[in-house]
Amino acid sequence: MQLDVLWKYMQVDMEADSFETEMRQSPSRQKLLKQRDFLLEQQDNMKRIEGEVSAMTDRLDAVRDEYLRLSDLLAKDKKALDEETPETKEELEKAIESMQRMVDNLSHYEQELQRIKKDSDTRLRQQREIRVQAAKTKMAYDALKKSYDVEFKESSRKLKDLRARTEKEAKGVDPELLERYKWIKQHSTPPMALLMENQCGGCYMQLPSVSLKELRAGEKVVECENCGRIVYVPEDML
Ligand SMILES: [Zn+2]
Repeated sequence: MQLDVLWKYMQVDMEADSFETEMRQSPSRQKLLKQRDFLLEQQDNMKRIEGEVSAMTDRLDAVRDEYLRLSDLLAKDKKALDEETPETKEELEKAIESMQRMVDNLSHYEQELQRIKKDSDTRLRQQREIRVQAAKTKMAYDALKKSYDVEFKESSRKLKDLRARTEKEAKGVDPELLERYKWIKQHSTPPMALLMENQCGGCYMQLPSVSLKELRAGEKVVECENCGRIVYVPEDML
């Protein structure tokens, strides 16, 4: 019967599928993916830090300009005061007050310049650390990639053989039945289940007596009402 052929086909199909899953889950591949993610992450970090450093440099330039401008101004005011003493006490106090404000501002700018310098040193240190780490990881990645490529080539060949065997088996299966199988496979895999004590061997639901009768008659393809799998009974068990 057609279902025997389909059952045989399914064994090879499942073997190929599980081998493909095994390939995807290979420890070398997982490790490589992790290392690749780490390298990408570090690239992002570098870009972020570069952006931060560039913003800091802009700010540093602006603050330095302002600092110089104010220093000049203060020097000029001081010189003017040395050359010509104000006539009134109020005028003198006003001049001193204005100069004091400039001194305060200059001291603020100095503090900010120091802070920016410190922050940018930290960033530079981070960049150095990232570079060292990334270089180490890249070396490990390259070495592992080499051996993984060999592994992958072998596995791919084996998978290709398995798929070829699947194709060969498929030739014996009724095309309509094969379509049905593939459609079921999208939500229930494996798509066929053995009948076990009047239950579907895929989801363990009791089959209705109508379905059981149809199964024993062996004339119709019966699908489990619960999981949708094709229920199969080998001929010697009928
Ligand atoms: Zn079922």
